[in-house]
Amino acid sequence: MMIDEEGQTPVVLVGGKIWDGIADEPLGVAEILIKDGKIAEMGKTVNRPAEAKIIKLDGHTILPGLMDLHVHVTLDPKRPIESITQYSDAYKGLFALGALHDLLMNGFTTIRDACAFDHTYVTVDLKRAIQQGLIVGPRMFVAPHMISPSGGHGDLTGLMASEFAPALRVKNIADGPDEICRVVREEIRGGADWIKFAGSGGLGDPYRGPDETAFTQEEMNALVATAHDLGIPVCTHVYGAEGVRRAVSAGVDSIEHGSLASAEDLALMEKNGIFLVPTQYTILHDLDQLADPKYAASIPAFLVQKKLKYADALRAAAGRMAQSNVKIVFGTDAGCFPHKDNWKEFPEMVRHHVTPLRALKAATSTAAEMLKRPDLGRLAVGKTADIIAVPADPFQDISVMGKVDFVMMDGKIYKQPPNK
Ligand SMILES: [Zn+2]
Repeated sequence: MMIDEEGQTPVVLVGGKIWDGIADEPLGVAEILIKDGKIAEMGKTVNRPAEAKIIKLDGHTILPGLMDLHVHVTLDPKRPIESITQYSDAYKGLFALGALHDLLMNGFTTIRDACAFDHTYVTVDLKRAIQQGLIVGPRMFVAPHMISPSGGHGDLTGLMASEFAPALRVKNIADGPDEICRVVREEIRGGADWIKFAGSGGLGDPYRGPDETAFTQEEMNALVATAHDLGIPVCTHVYGAEGVRRAVSAGVDSIEHGSLASAEDLALMEKNGIFLVPTQYTILHDLDQLADPKYAASIPAFLVQKKLKYADALRAAAGRMAQSNVKIVFGTDAGCFPHKDNWKEFPEMVRHHVTPLRALKAATSTAAEMLKRPDLGRLAVGKTADIIAVPADPFQDISVMGKVDFVMMDGKIYKQPPNK
């Protein structure tokens, strides 16, 4: 699949309009010279070394490589519960190979995996295998497991009869500050780039609602302080209200979902500079699908009941973030639906009145800001050469984000349009 094995040959992109990840609109037609994995030159015309590969992108818009900072590459959306309860850790890793491929082909050159439900560190292994060139996939940041209190969103032991439940007690259940500190340190020892915890209930577990809290303030404080002491940022699955207030007070770095956040909750995130990863497509698309009796019959009854109970509140909350100035970062929960559909978060955001500019920044420069990786998410001389192209202007038609036909990561080409 990789077209230029080594990424050693300089590449010149010509003919496309450039959007640099920051500007209010595309900057017009310009050229980019890529050398040694970096952007070496960018301008109306650039040097064309004799050995360079020239790629014509007429009619295209060239953008920074996209980032989906909330995915689950080990989750099989066709069999979500079974993929947690019945797939071995090895099989979870094998399943992820297809997901990684789909995400990269969609133009997502960076992802953050927001937890597996495994007994080892499958996603850390995947990240290392990509770094070593053993497998192909986007650059990964990993939160290995979702730390959860007993009976919280990340505790799935309630899916099984109690005599079998211990088998589902993966590495993530912790109650009380002492246990939480230990689990946070184990996660970091295991290779965590991020710590994730369940700050509220959720929709996908067999317990209470997404508007109910999980950890106490004292527990959240201990969790965040332990991670930050070791230089690791913290993200939390939390829907709204008291969960948001506690998480903000504890000092988390990002809030995942926020799908029941009030205007006050959003203002609190904004004031404290906390990033919001709203994962709107999965939540709203799922509610729409429930109208199909065949779909409803295909998922566990507890899920249907829970989703119906919160459907109105979730729909009502969907438009609120567009009115706030919170820093939105693109994340989808892909794995809860097919990974190849993750681009649909773009039109979903725009449908809820987020501007195309804000949606595109969410997946590029704002995402890079959250990762503290200023070399990513922008097109400028010296930046890492993660570059994609789409065959039209996404500022005019956001749905073209589903038609990425050029993908470069670290200066290596993984997909390119047919030769013209
Ligand atoms: Zn998730």
